[in-house]
Amino acid sequence: MLVDNHNRTINYLRLAVTDRCNLRCNYCMPEEGINFAKNDKLFTIDELVRLSSLMVSQGIDKIRITGGEPFVRKDLMVLLRNLASLTGLKDISVTTNATLIGPYIDELKELGIKNINVSMDAINRETFERITRRNHYDVVYNNMIRLITEGFNVRINFIALDGQNIEDIIPMLELTKHYNVSVRFLEEMPFNGGSKEFQSIKWDFRAILAHIKEAHPGYYKLQSPKTSTSINYKIPGFKGTFGVIPSFSRTFCGSCNRLRISATGDVITCLYAKASANLRDIMRADDVEANIKSAILQAVGSRAKTGFEAQEKYKDVFSNSMTSIGG
Ligand code: SAM
Repeated sequence: MLVDNHNRTINYLRLAVTDRCNLRCNYCMPEEGINFAKNDKLFTIDELVRLSSLMVSQGIDKIRITGGEPFVRKDLMVLLRNLASLTGLKDISVTTNATLIGPYIDELKELGIKNINVSMDAINRETFERITRRNHYDVVYNNMIRLITEGFNVRINFIALDGQNIEDIIPMLELTKHYNVSVRFLEEMPFNGGSKEFQSIKWDFRAILAHIKEAHPGYYKLQSPKTSTSINYKIPGFKGTFGVIPSFSRTFCGSCNRLRISATGDVITCLYAKASANLRDIMRADDVEANIKSAILQAVGSRAKTGFEAQEKYKDVFSNSMTSIGG
């Protein structure tokens, strides 16, 4: 079992498989993209399988595959097949922009991978295409609906962006009227590859909730797991649920159970912190098992208590893009 220096059990790994993405969401990176890693700096699939297995032996029982866009990796399903047969791993989930997932939906179902987070920051086509800087609305919308209707446990992640998509919050919630889906509204964070800087946000979780209350005054709070980052609600009579994630307000650090490994092998113990080790280099040297374990123990043993403490320590962390951190 992995327990950090603040007595928090770490059982959840967010594993990025690439930093590349086929969208250019304007709150995530500049139009021209970022300095993407060369292929030999990324883990190979064999390395990712080995790493995952080591992490599970250390106490990780939930792995979320993220990126970049995970499905830009043509060999992603090889990794997922291997993970699906890993004893001790109870939950495999994927975070995706849903542009490329279509051909893999049947196999995901066969593998029992049912938890899919779809990032979709607008239900209006023009708004969506303006934010993502690409014309992929139809494929995203259709794949999202297909995942829901085929019985996947779908959560839609919607970042509330001042001046960009606030008028889409209520229409996006309409999805939960008709479908058993969870729409989660996230606060924007300043991890955008230097596109814009800010110290505060207008649309924090309280403002989002107040906005929703105007349209749906009857919504009520649901019980959520202790380690959940989202505070969850239901509108009476609606099939699905909605939630808010205070990712900038950082009200959930006390129960954080997560560890991140970026596509290039950096171990990140908090979104607002910098890497504490690089596992790719360790993976390509001698005595892999012992050295990976000791790097993980070291990282977990020196975590910041909160995202604010981490930000204070690593002042220039905001030059990062979420596509290289892994979201
Ligand atoms: N490509 C996948 C996707 O679109 O979901 C996975 C990677 S993406 C970096 C993971 C998540 O990070 C997405 O839900 C995205 O909206 C979120 N994200 C990216 N930049 C962000 C920012 N500056 N603030 C808050 N969330 C951000």
